[in-house]
Amino acid sequence: MQPEIIIVGMGASGQSAAKLALHLGYTVHCVDRKVSSVPMGAYFHLESEGAWQTLQPERVVVSPGVPSQNAVIQQAIAKNTPILSELNFAAQHLTVPIVGVTGTNGKSSTVWYTKQLLEALGHSVFLGGNFGCALSEMVLEIARDQHVYDTAVVEVSSYQMEWSQDFHANAAAILNLTPDHLARHGTIEEYRRCKMKIFAGQTTADRAIVPLTDPTLHPNTDAEVVYFGDQTSVNDRLFGCFLTPTGLHWQMPDNTWSISKDDIPLMGTHNLSNVAVALLLVDQVSTKPITASLCSVLTPLEHRLEPLWHQGRLWINDSKATNIEATQAALESMTEPVVLLLGGAGKQGANYVDLLPEINRTVHSIICFGGSGQEIQQQLQSVLPKNISCNFTIDLSTAIQLARLEKDHRPILLSPACASFDAFTNFEYRGRFFKDTIQQ
Ligand code: ADP
Repeated sequence: MQPEIIIVGMGASGQSAAKLALHLGYTVHCVDRKVSSVPMGAYFHLESEGAWQTLQPERVVVSPGVPSQNAVIQQAIAKNTPILSELNFAAQHLTVPIVGVTGTNGKSSTVWYTKQLLEALGHSVFLGGNFGCALSEMVLEIARDQHVYDTAVVEVSSYQMEWSQDFHANAAAILNLTPDHLARHGTIEEYRRCKMKIFAGQTTADRAIVPLTDPTLHPNTDAEVVYFGDQTSVNDRLFGCFLTPTGLHWQMPDNTWSISKDDIPLMGTHNLSNVAVALLLVDQVSTKPITASLCSVLTPLEHRLEPLWHQGRLWINDSKATNIEATQAALESMTEPVVLLLGGAGKQGANYVDLLPEINRTVHSIICFGGSGQEIQQQLQSVLPKNISCNFTIDLSTAIQLARLEKDHRPILLSPACASFDAFTNFEYRGRFFKDTIQQ
């Protein structure tokens, strides 16, 4: 008889896991809170109807969106049924090396750079996980001979690690950790514990990449540990890739080199740090030497400090900056005064005055727009120096028109510090609207 499996949560990851489970020969039962379609051959159960309670699954696979209070998970715990995240389930059926990246900020950028570097070295890369497709899709594509991949680059969220049992990454990195998703994880310790599980399956043949100055993110591991961070705290015995005042310094047992930030075609110090991590990840899975010149292939990820030149003027699309911290990071990356576009659907209680030090350093004028635009203008107007103007326009389109009128052709930065839901489906739509409008 075919073994039974339950897949919980029928979003994109759950759908992919169900397809993979069918391919592997399971009798597949899918459970969701609301009526959902499932892949052909699988059975659907509404969670509230409870028919799934009589099943005897060999395992339960959990989509990242499903919290642990879920009834199916609770029953699996009570019956000692193995529970696995979709990512871990997929990874168990992969034979190619896996490169994983987790952290609070910078995951997508880092996996993007890792993919680009690996491709420049001749790898055929699947990029997925929390970014793009679920990892189960990679397993299916390989199984169906649709694609020949030799490396998996995976963005790993804390949710995907919650039910990870034996996830094994040949190279894994944690970028940083700040309080986030606490509604789901309860405490920062639990959030950290989930993230640190990215290193749990590693052995002596693997590599862990961690921030030098944050010992709370250093795993207890048999893997080789290498570091990234500020070079000021580095000594000869520490290996890794470090930030210097002028760029990056690569310090590994077999070679050392430095590269100027001018030769890395990306904006922002945080991106130098992300590139350092990407280089260390790539070094672990590539047989070719890592050299400074490799960095020339890097291009920014869409909507993250993405520069666009139009009629001799620089426009910067940082639509992904949906909170104040991200906008601060963007402003810290500016090397000349900019026109800043701020607005959208702001978080309740957000304090935009926190942007003042960065605004004072590098902003020429501000245009607020959209749902929270007026509130932002009110907060800032009372504290801004007189030489920095702060206007309000009804929406992003009129903000762009107003910015275009600025005479000195200063760079225009869309780094809104707000979500996009007042006017757009998500930050990607907002960023594309920005780019399309500029070019019209
Ligand atoms: P994630 O996938 O983790 O959300 P992204 O690569 O999409 O991260 O970047 C999101 C935002 O986080 C960027 O707009 C930038 O402001 C900020 N960011 C990127 N890399 C870092 C980093 N290494 N440290 C701190 N902030 C960063």
